This record gives sequence, structure tokens and C-alpha cells, in this order.
Amino acid sequence: MPSLPILVLNSGSSSIKFSIYEAGDGERTRLLEGAVDGIGTDLGKFWIKDEGGNKLVDQTPALPNRAVAFKIVADALHSGDFPAPAAIGHRTVCGGPTVRENQLITPRLIDEIDSYAALAPLHTPIAVYIMREALRLFPGTPNFAILDTYFHRTIPEVAARMPIPDEYVALGVRRYGYHGISYESIIYQLQPNVPEKLIVAHLGNGASISAIRGGKCLDTSMALTPTSGIISGSRTGDIDPGVLIFILKKIAETTSGALDAAEKLENVVSKQSGLLGVSGLSNDMRDLRESIQEGNARARLAVDKFTWTIARWIGSYVAELNGLDMLVFTGGIGENDIASRAEICAGLGALGIVVDPVRNNVRGEAVISAESSPVTVRVIPPAEDLIIVNHVVRLLATPSAELSF
Ligand code: ADP
Repeated sequence: MPSLPILVLNSGSSSIKFSIYEAGDGERTRLLEGAVDGIGTDLGKFWIKDEGGNKLVDQTPALPNRAVAFKIVADALHSGDFPAPAAIGHRTVCGGPTVRENQLITPRLIDEIDSYAALAPLHTPIAVYIMREALRLFPGTPNFAILDTYFHRTIPEVAARMPIPDEYVALGVRRYGYHGISYESIIYQLQPNVPEKLIVAHLGNGASISAIRGGKCLDTSMALTPTSGIISGSRTGDIDPGVLIFILKKIAETTSGALDAAEKLENVVSKQSGLLGVSGLSNDMRDLRESIQEGNARARLAVDKFTWTIARWIGSYVAELNGLDMLVFTGGIGENDIASRAEICAGLGALGIVVDPVRNNVRGEAVISAESSPVTVRVIPPAEDLIIVNHVVRLLATPSAELSF
């Protein structure tokens, strides 16, 4: 395949991030990256940097809505100042039960993904909006949906099935798993020496952990929604269902419609809980570490809850894998928060996980386990855009191979 500029789009609730790679057979060069940030505000940010990190665009436009924000990106990429994309890869958080393969985006595919928006209400509506806009603003350019759930399609039914009645399972309720593109990027970076028994902890604002055997996902902590699993910035993680029923009944006392009450509950479990809920201060690990330095007990408890949960999860995955060869930390906290890594691993010596405090005193890529540690512990930053580009290149080469819609 000749080298082509491939655009990667990663849309979130208030931003659209993008990058362009020059990609051909084996060749991957990032030409630029950029973002429109602050959607919904009068003073947004729009920037583009070249591969050397030099700012090519640095503006503060009004970004009243997503349409305006995406038009700004499309106009810039059509201006002739930058390489016009030959194909576009959309990071797609959840395709629902029917869209499990990465594939070409058609209007029908978008409708199919949209029909399961209720399963991932915080992510899918944004993703399908940007897909529709991209088909409109980049006519003739192939667009591909690259799914975070794709990596997790190998998890066995015993992990995927929810212990609930069939009538809800039939609606698509199951463990999908998230951060899949990040996990794929860790496997990619470990090649050709991917350990047989691997645990990867993706610890960012959202946090999840996966058990991976022979490069394939065996189990992952996030389930139907990214709210599940380990506690994260503002999400509960797994919680006694009775707590949800209790909170819902409390909300219902002062809320009229059932759907309104459900939305308020969703807001509590995904935006007001986790590190933010326990600390009462912040969802951000850097803030919490600062507060701990100042002696704040609530910040200490929030971070202890976080590291304690992750250590327990690692323990259960060692049991599920029946051993462990390597533990990898990734994501903003996994890469940068030296103290979290030390605290998570502090009680895991019996599992063969021994971190060297000197080696751990690092940010970014490193081996941090002690020489004597039976399990290798590493820090590896994710390379998600590269994985999206890899999938797009593969799909461009076999355009009809994976079309299920
Ligand atoms: P997202 O899930 O939004 O992509 P990131 O992977 O960027 O999130 O991770 C954000 C988290 O990483 C925040 O809690 C932030 O405080 C934490 N983080 C980033 N840099 C540091 C640092 N130097 N020390 C401690 N925590 C950090």
C-alpha cells in the first residue's frame, strides 16, 4: 500500500482530539496532532502541533456546540495547509452487541451503533454524531469505526454473562469492556515477547484492569459501562446493587419522572463518586497527592480506596490466570504516579510482585520490578492512535473483509 495520510478522531464530551499519520506498508509517521477543547464555551481552544511539537495553529474560538467545533477541524484539514486525509479512523467506545468488529462506517452502521446508545449513554451519542458529521464533511473519504470493545471480544461467556434474567441479556446487557485500544497498544509494544500471563492496569481518569492470556483478553474489570470495575476519578466502580436501589429511592422522593430519577442516579455514580466522592475534593490524582502532603485525611482515604481496590483486583486476576508473568501500568496515573504504583504493589509480594523503589522513581516507560521479582513490572505509555491507524491500514487493504453491516 502506498503511504497515505490517515486521520484519527477521538471525540469526548467537551473535546475532539485528532492526529494525522502518514501510513503505508510498515511505515507509521505522525505528521501532526491537535484538538478543539472547551466545547460548549465562548472561549474554546483550537490547536495543531507538528511532529516536533511546534504549534502550527493556536486559537481561542467560540465553541458553542459540537457542530461548530468539528467544522473548525474539517475546515482546517480542507484548507490545503495540512495533508487532507485519505481515510479516517474513529475511536468508538462501544458498538453494542451487534457491532463487534472494526469496520467501514456506513449510515446503516451508524444507525445500528446508535440503536444501542442506551448501553453507553455518555459515549455513543457523541461518537455517532461525529461519524455522521465526518461522512458529510469528508465526502468520498472512507471512515472506519475502531472499537474499544474489539479487544475484549475474546472474553469467555462466564466473564461476559451478567447474572440477571435473560430478558435483559437479550437487550444487549453484558460485559463489553473498555480501554481496549489502549490494551491492544500495550500488546503491540510488547511484541514479539508478549508474556503468556499478563495483567495490564490502565489507570487514568477512567481506570480499568485486564487479565490477558497469550495476548488475548481473558477478563476485564469494566463491564456494560465504564462506570463499573475499579473506582476511578468520579465513578463508583463495582458497588453493591443495594446501594444503587437505596440512592434511587432517595432521589425518587424529590423527583417526579422515573427517567429523570435514573438520570440523576447516573450522574451520582459516574460524575460525583470515585476519588471525587470519597475525597470531597477532586477527581484528579495530582490534587489528591498534594492534599495528602498537607495532611488531608479524606484525600488519603480516597487514594487508599483506589490502590486497595486495584491490589484486590490484581489478586483475583492472578488467580484467574493461574499465575502471572508481567504486570504493566499505563494511563496518566499508571505512567506518572510513582506513589500509586508503590502503594498498589506494596502488599503483593506473596504473588511474586516486588517493585524496586529506585527503579520505580520514574515517569514513563521503564521496568520497575526488583531484580529478584518473579513477576516483571513495567510502565508503558499507551499508543492508541497508532493502533487505530494500524486497523485502518488493515481494513483499507481488505475493504470488504470485516463488514458486518
Ligand atoms: P483520561 O482517562 O482522561 O485519558 P489520563 O490518562 O490523562 O486520563 O490520566 C489522568 C490522571 O492522571 C489524573 O488523575 C491525573 O492527576 C493523573 N496524573 C497525570 N500526571 C500525573 C503526575 N505527574 N502525578 C500523578 N498523577 C498524574
